[in-house]
Amino acid sequence: MSDFELTTQNRVRRIPARGHYDKAVIYPIIDEALICHVGFVEDGLPYVIPTIHARSGDKLIFHGAKASRMMKQIASGATICVTFTLLDGLVLARSTFHHSMNYRSAVVFGQGRPLTDETEKMAALEVLTEHLVHGRWQDARQPNAKELNATAMAELTIASASAKIRTGPPGDDDEDYALPIWAGVLPIQQQYLPPIDDSQLSEGLFAPEYIVNYRR
Ligand SMILES: Cc1cc2nc3c(=O)[nH]c(=O)nc-3n(C[C@H](O)[C@H](O)[C@H](O)COP(=O)(O)OP(=O)(O)OC[C@H]3O[C@@H](n4cnc5c(N)ncnc54)[C@H](O)[C@@H]3O)c2cc1C
Repeated sequence: MSDFELTTQNRVRRIPARGHYDKAVIYPIIDEALICHVGFVEDGLPYVIPTIHARSGDKLIFHGAKASRMMKQIASGATICVTFTLLDGLVLARSTFHHSMNYRSAVVFGQGRPLTDETEKMAALEVLTEHLVHGRWQDARQPNAKELNATAMAELTIASASAKIRTGPPGDDDEDYALPIWAGVLPIQQQYLPPIDDSQLSEGLFAPEYIVNYRR
């Protein structure tokens, strides 16, 4: 039994062996991703908007400007589709047809609600901040009443989800393996470079350990 029931909405049809429906596979993808893409339909037109997210249990947290159409859509209770993509490698086959990518991706469906209570908003902002940089919430100045009021927040309950994962070498056609063409995988790893001090940094301040050794 999978954590998420297989339905016509979330069942991976194309190469089903790559599909996963357990939280133990899907949630780490969501947590490692720094951004996601929020998909919704408004007035019959589709939109897919990149944004920051965080996960708290079975809920996704979003924030944005009060005028943001994406935030209004998430808060409206309409069904939203959110995707997460982690790129792990370029897969170079002997034939162009079999070129591919190694990846871990997740697709989530659910309905949202607005977060309006101040305590609830602060808690959600802490989750969001900590998702991006663990340790930052306590270190940075936290939102004041004006900033909190200017921030729209919403949470989306994950109702259905799937992950799709490709790993390993290219899969060429049998007759192509003898071709004198290089094939293999070019692995991709996200790299964080040494931090750059802000030009207006007060004297005697140094990047904290959680920045210098930042990893996801
Ligand atoms: C980095 C990357 C590059 C890709 N490049 C291509 C490409 O060039 N061409 C191409 O056709 N496909 C590509 N894919 C695969 C693509 O995401 C789809 O899986 C594929 O196109 C099948 O689409 P479909 O609508 O027929 O899916 P279906 O299998 O019909 O989708 C049904 C359900 O399966 C789930 N699902 C489908 N795809 C994914 C996914 N990737 N992750 C999690 N759940 C999923 C969703 O819940 C979806 O609603 C790529 C994926 C990634 C992550």
